[in-house]
Amino acid sequence: MKRPGKIVCVGRNYREHAKEMGNEVPAEPLLFLKPPSCVIASGESIELPAGAGRVDFEGEVGIVVGSRLRKATPEACAAAVRGIAAANDVSAREWQKNDGQWARAKGSDTFLPLGEESGSPRDLTALTIVTRVNGKERQRASTADMVFPIPVLLAYISRHMTLEPGDLVLTGTPSGVGPLEPGDVVEIEVAGHSAVRNPVTAAA
Ligand code: ZN
Repeated sequence: MKRPGKIVCVGRNYREHAKEMGNEVPAEPLLFLKPPSCVIASGESIELPAGAGRVDFEGEVGIVVGSRLRKATPEACAAAVRGIAAANDVSAREWQKNDGQWARAKGSDTFLPLGEESGSPRDLTALTIVTRVNGKERQRASTADMVFPIPVLLAYISRHMTLEPGDLVLTGTPSGVGPLEPGDVVEIEVAGHSAVRNPVTAAA
């Protein structure tokens, strides 16, 4: 698997998830970054760091950027999508709450399982994201339910930081997030496009 360039993520982009976390839906997209070093492939282990407390799965649609986008329109952004990849935005909730920023809560090693990239779909508003833990379905949503649709999200990001070929955008998680335990197997699927499946272990 090719490691992405920068990884730009958005929080609270599905109403039901914002509600389940006790957060308001933001007026503008809430952006954060994950480092490329946290990416793992399907089959590799998600390692729960010692002392992290609750670590959640977050199934997300990953968008791979195909051309340079700077202050671009939503239409130009939609045309610049190179591919789709299933992604798991693994998140250590206590660190996320207590650290003041999310660098280790979202960026620790193994915190981004990423599926193989598939080609860009015609319709970015009709993708289905599904998460299963130990075979049991835990999340299911359509990109039609997003607060900020994918082209709008990319356009917003491109106003603040230039998106370059090979960059990855994680588009937020729907409701149903929950904690991972050693021994779990978590699978994220963008139906018909990409999937990523990883066992969970305690860090040595
Ligand atoms: Zn997320």
